[in-house]
Amino acid sequence: MADENPDPPAGENLDPIAISEQQFDQASRYIRGLKRGLIGFLKQPKRINIVNFPIELDDGSVQSFQGYRVVHNRVFGPGKGGIRYHPDVTVDEVISLAKLMTWKCALVNIPFGGAKGAVVCKPKELSEKELRRITRRFTSEMFDVFGPHTDIPAPDLYTSEQTMAWIFDTYDILHPGYNNRPVVTGKPIAMGGSYGRYEATGQGCVLAAQRFLSKALLPEQQDLAGARVVIQGFGDVGSVAAQAFFREGAKIIAVSDSQGGILREDGLDPAEVQTFKAEHGSVVGMPDTMTITNAELLELDCDILMPAALSNQIHSGNANNVKARLVVEGANNPTTPAADAILAKKGIYVLPDILANAGGVTVSYYEWVQNQANEQWDPDRIAEGLKRKMYTAVDTVFSRWQSFVVGEETPVEGETAGEEGPGTPDFRTVALIIAIERVTEATLMRGIWP
Ligand code: NAD
Repeated sequence: MADENPDPPAGENLDPIAISEQQFDQASRYIRGLKRGLIGFLKQPKRINIVNFPIELDDGSVQSFQGYRVVHNRVFGPGKGGIRYHPDVTVDEVISLAKLMTWKCALVNIPFGGAKGAVVCKPKELSEKELRRITRRFTSEMFDVFGPHTDIPAPDLYTSEQTMAWIFDTYDILHPGYNNRPVVTGKPIAMGGSYGRYEATGQGCVLAAQRFLSKALLPEQQDLAGARVVIQGFGDVGSVAAQAFFREGAKIIAVSDSQGGILREDGLDPAEVQTFKAEHGSVVGMPDTMTITNAELLELDCDILMPAALSNQIHSGNANNVKARLVVEGANNPTTPAADAILAKKGIYVLPDILANAGGVTVSYYEWVQNQANEQWDPDRIAEGLKRKMYTAVDTVFSRWQSFVVGEETPVEGETAGEEGPGTPDFRTVALIIAIERVTEATLMRGIWP
């Protein structure tokens, strides 16, 4: 049984392509000299692969599955992006997520382009053997699409280190005689994975939040000590972030998963929640906690709200009720453009996905570099590199934002600044401005071929 997620009101356009275009258009209002031809090029994915393949299930029956792999842009390097297994995933959602990866890699200065993949399936109802067959068959369908220098998958919703190990193994069997380790990141450490990769996204979100608070935009909360934190989604990203917030002295008052949420005002110990979830399959029912819905969780009074599950969780129907002071996007696309405008009016800051959750792709890049040389870097080196990347990215976005605040920069002539106030774009828009400018500059430097 799944818990009630917040229902978006009728009338808000939640089409993922429309949302990504709206965000792009909002950023382009601040970018001077953006050529019309480039806008068309950057809005479209470079390549879309759709495959259908049969799998024999454990009961002997045969079921057909659909899988997608989209590369949005490869101006900076090979396509890079996770693969998710989910019953509701659509090709349009995968396209919009591939675009996000392009902007994310550009923002944190990593030489990858943007890609994303998915298989439409119900991972919770499939056995491990069935998931392995799906993964192997999907990888074999993509044998000439994936590649260490063309398109590199990673984990995402309901895929794991194990899934990545199967992808590597299948690809390696189909391409004998090469060092194929860099074809996929997020592998188990014993198989060429990197120290710190599993933790990187959640840890990176916490580093981003920490650096952001140090800028004193919330004068009474300039570090994480004592911050009251709410996390939606207690998976790879959410559970690691909970532990990192906890280590920094924050109080985790509520967390959730697909079954619902739990609340304890005097704080949860994330390690205890982890143990309970491992034993019972959900966080719900943990002793000495109050059960709440995911919809209620998003509206709790707190300092930091971290959506770390699905997209479109904060929308025009509930944004007015959000009481957090800072939203840190662990998930991709958890906040709709309409909600962004409402949160901005309420003075709630949002650290956007392409900034907050960029830690995952950062350490994926370190894994890829290690794999090329068959090296294993020690955990301190990874942790130091991740911290530097996240701090630099926050600093870059913050100082560019300030240039709008003090009026050094303004919207392009003839444009309005949008909903969020006279002349000042929100952090998502600023992060996108930086990323789009970098990709545009590199595209023009390379020159349009032929
Ligand atoms: P995961 O599968 O490990 O965890 C997902 C969590 O979300 C689980 O706790 C699940 O129960 C919960 N969930 C599922 N449906 C839900 C619902 N309807 N309501 C509330 N909770 C629900 O996935 P993950 O790797 O932690 O990814 C979470 C998000 O972070 C995704 O949006 C993903 O794109 C994004 N992300 C992940 C990475 C990464 O490195 N794993 C990197 C960047 C962004």
